[in-house]
Amino acid sequence: MGQLNAGIVPVTPFQQNCTILFDMDDRNGVVVDPGGDVDQILSVLKDNAITAGAIWITHGHIDHAGGAMDLKDALGIDIIGPHAADKLLLDNLENQGSRYGIAGVRNCVPDRFLAEGDTVSFGNHTFEVLHCPGHAPGHVVYYNRAAKFAHVGDVLFRGSVGRTDLPGGDHAALIASIKEKLLPLGDDIGFICGHGPGSRFGDERRTNPFLT
Ligand SMILES: [Zn+2]
Ligand SMILES: [Zn+2]
Repeated sequence: MGQLNAGIVPVTPFQQNCTILFDMDDRNGVVVDPGGDVDQILSVLKDNAITAGAIWITHGHIDHAGGAMDLKDALGIDIIGPHAADKLLLDNLENQGSRYGIAGVRNCVPDRFLAEGDTVSFGNHTFEVLHCPGHAPGHVVYYNRAAKFAHVGDVLFRGSVGRTDLPGGDHAALIASIKEKLLPLGDDIGFICGHGPGSRFGDERRTNPFLT
């Protein structure tokens, strides 16, 4: 088994960072948050000779989960996550789609919901599941201790934090998730987030205006 690598495919009008996590040697991996533009995700997998063994979802918003069922059907793989607290959001993706004028969105039915303390893996790359509510009630973060890497979805951004004005949002819970679960993992943890460039927890702890 080789090193963990990540490739980003921006999808949907929200420019969401659909993330392909894969092993550099055997090129097996997973697709995190296929919010839409599934044909584009499929061609990136094909062009880079990457085999996706599962779909991992961080939370139930349309830009993260809207294309999951189509990708599942295209590849015959399971949808894993988020936490069951996002079931209501996942059951209403088609409504979210019509509200935002996005066609072709399907409600998402995960094969497995996740809870705090679960682990998910591909090859020998193991990720701990952290339940981080606030932006969405069932938001999870995928943390790879060995690689000092986390996929934080819409919990934390470079210089910002997730919005909490959507249904189920809770700003105090969001800040608690970041300060009590993410930042203690260490300043040297690098992360990819749902929108825009990634960062490191230490840089956010020191400079993010929402955390100081
Ligand atoms: Zn979101
Ligand atoms: Zn998002």
